[in-house]
Amino acid sequence: MSQIWSYTGDTGPEFWPGLCEEFYAAAQFPLQSPILLSYEEAQALEKALKFTYVEQNIRVQKINETMHFVPVDAASFVDFAQNRYYLTDIHFHMPSEHVISKQQAPLEFHLVHKDEDGNPLVCAVLFDLVEDEDKKCNNGKLTLEAGKDKEQSLNPEIFLPENITYFHYEGSLTTPPTEGPVQWFVFDQIGLMSRFLIEAFKTSLSPNNRPLQNKNQRPIFYKK
Ligand SMILES: [Zn+2]
Repeated sequence: MSQIWSYTGDTGPEFWPGLCEEFYAAAQFPLQSPILLSYEEAQALEKALKFTYVEQNIRVQKINETMHFVPVDAASFVDFAQNRYYLTDIHFHMPSEHVISKQQAPLEFHLVHKDEDGNPLVCAVLFDLVEDEDKKCNNGKLTLEAGKDKEQSLNPEIFLPENITYFHYEGSLTTPPTEGPVQWFVFDQIGLMSRFLIEAFKTSLSPNNRPLQNKNQRPIFYKK
């Protein structure tokens, strides 16, 4: 199926629900993403996310509006609330979709996980861009080779910030179909990413962030 949605014009975000029945049905889920996050409104989160990330082969592919880093095997996973979710996809949005304390970041990575029934859990990591010609991520932990359909070995923990503190809430996917529920974890330590590295993967300079959605009184949690 050719892509029927975009981020601008008459196939842009406000028109996604009208583009097809599948998108319409997904948009009926009341807790949409992304949302504005703030410390003042957050409750303490008791349960913690536990990461088991390992070095594994990852394929670089262009899908829809962004580059994706797709694990070849189910190897890295997270545990949350007695459930295990395997890492299935990594991609990014520019500028950031989530906004923390009214600050939008230039870049947001999504680490998408799924449990054995296909229920999604997404970790979002916001980044500032730095002028690092060595094309590094997070102070030298990553150098990626740019190029479509390339496979390389890496540990996805390179995308995680050093301090693992995060907001947690229930939301939706941010690209159509925007179905839910999705367990969201948005890290509040902003990472550093080489602008040159990202530009090597960027196929278009136009923004690919969905606008902020209504919170609809849902609870927001924070784990420190
Ligand atoms: Zn995303």
